[in-house]
Amino acid sequence: MLQFSPYLVLIGFSAVISIFLAWFFWQRRPAPGIGSFVTMMLALSCWSIASALQLAVTTLAGKAFFINLVLINVMIATASWFLFTLSYTGRDGWVTQKSVLGLTIFPVLTTIAMLTNDYHNLFWTSTSLTASDGLITHIFESGILFYVHTAYQYALIVAGQFILLRSVIRSPQLYRGQIGLLVIGALFPLIGNIIFLFIGTPLPDYFDPTPTIFLVTGICIGLAYYRFRLMDIVPVAREIIVENMVDGVIVVDREVRIVDINKAALKILGKEGKNVLGQPLLNVWEKQREALMQFRGVEQAETEVNLIVNNEPRTYQVRLSPLRDRHGNLTGRIGTLTDITTLKQIQHKLEDARQKADEATRLKSDFLATMSHELRTPLNAVIGYSELMTSGMVGDLSEQHWEYTDRIASNAKSLLELINDILDISKIEAGRMELKLRPMHLSTWMNELVVQNQVLADNKNLTFTIEIDHHLPETLIGDADRLRQIAVNLLSNAFKFTNEGTVTFQILKHDSQLWSIIVTDTGIGIPPHKQETIFNEFQQADTSSTREHSGTGLGLAIVRKLVLMMGGHIRLQSELDKGSTFTVLLPLITDVPKTENLVVGVTS
Ligand code: ADP
Repeated sequence: MLQFSPYLVLIGFSAVISIFLAWFFWQRRPAPGIGSFVTMMLALSCWSIASALQLAVTTLAGKAFFINLVLINVMIATASWFLFTLSYTGRDGWVTQKSVLGLTIFPVLTTIAMLTNDYHNLFWTSTSLTASDGLITHIFESGILFYVHTAYQYALIVAGQFILLRSVIRSPQLYRGQIGLLVIGALFPLIGNIIFLFIGTPLPDYFDPTPTIFLVTGICIGLAYYRFRLMDIVPVAREIIVENMVDGVIVVDREVRIVDINKAALKILGKEGKNVLGQPLLNVWEKQREALMQFRGVEQAETEVNLIVNNEPRTYQVRLSPLRDRHGNLTGRIGTLTDITTLKQIQHKLEDARQKADEATRLKSDFLATMSHELRTPLNAVIGYSELMTSGMVGDLSEQHWEYTDRIASNAKSLLELINDILDISKIEAGRMELKLRPMHLSTWMNELVVQNQVLADNKNLTFTIEIDHHLPETLIGDADRLRQIAVNLLSNAFKFTNEGTVTFQILKHDSQLWSIIVTDTGIGIPPHKQETIFNEFQQADTSSTREHSGTGLGLAIVRKLVLMMGGHIRLQSELDKGSTFTVLLPLITDVPKTENLVVGVTS
């Protein structure tokens, strides 16, 4: 036969909430101590259910059975609480099979004492039934073992409390809230139980409110987990990672009060101890008020600031990131300060060195430009006079004299060619090469080139084909002289390195943005490993001393620099013994630019 009491509803309600909390947090594992927490909640619900059934049954044996069940669950709940506090405060290492087994010894002994009470009456000195409020209730007089059992339970709860309290004292502000919540949570059942057992409540004796009060503990832990996202950050992790970081870390709330700060940041601030917690950052760091003001209202930033730390100027990289709650609302900001002083010093040194190197290059180019210019004048005289002599205008020369004078002239011409190339290169490097962008008539420009180069084709009996794309506008904007220099270099190479076949010269429209100058030959080709380097100064594919082709190795370097200056690029396709194709792609400009002369310096 069962009896009903309104208290049953209350107890049932606690049981349901405990089960719900157990389920809710089980879903969110793994988190520190979640296993113990869930066990505790399940024990609480069993405690509530057993306590409800104890009230509902009317026989003494029935009541004794459920009271025993209640006590077993009490023991499970307190042991789990204790284990939870250990895991939560980072003492996971203590939660071993051995220690868990150790914790079960006492409950097992207690259970044996309870079940064998009829033989010794040390747990309950007497058990009887009585009637109160129209219900059949029990009167179990507590014996010595019951008090031992109760004392042990209190000891476990208090030990857990103590562990948590130590953690509160040691942990930074950020985590105090959550651990504090746990401590308060655990006080409820303790105080409630003491009142229930020793002082008395207006509630009837047969109703044990402890599991209901214990529920408050569960809810507090739940809140601590949920509200403070304990699953994501535990104090231990913070302790290990944040506190020992070389970078300074400062967490501020929405009102820019310091919520958390690590050792490194305290050092930067020139403060000691954590009494800065809770203080407005602006007050704490009065000296850097100005530097701080730039971050006012800024959620995210990455910048460099110069600070005086320990009377030394230092540079820090500051990274500011917003902290948000689950709904995306700003809850605070986290700032990290990375000391980049050494990095900056190295950067400055590098920059200095680069500037010096640039300056040296400029001086070298200046020197070369001047020298080349000075050399050209006497060389032109040498060429002029020797040509005068070979032309017979200064009288007859013997055959030998004529030959020697002719050699003087041709060597002087090679030298002049080299000097001209060096002059061009150094001009470009010194940024003194000017591009004169003007309208140029494409076909006229091309025809002049063909006439100039036809002789090279004829000398070697080569076919010279040309093609001009009629999709190209008649007039383009460009520097006709420099473009001629590019084309002449490519064409003279093509003729130089082709012994039979054809040299093709094309001017095509590449797309709406680009046009191209393409020079193709059926010559000796360039081996793949040389295709990159031949664009560098003084680089030739054939470096042997028996090289049959003369040249300075500067032509392609000049071509590439000029093409880059013009905002274009050059491509090479070549196959050994088959021939080569040089394609110069250039921006297609049809409008006259505002400034007639563009001064562009390219050093690559
Ligand atoms: P140079 O012709 O004065 O040696 P360049 O800079 O014009 O200097 O050319 C560098 C090298 O690239 C040449 O020595 C040659 O080995 C190779 N090269 C250039 N154009 C061609 C080509 N059309 N066919 C084969 N090799 C070429």
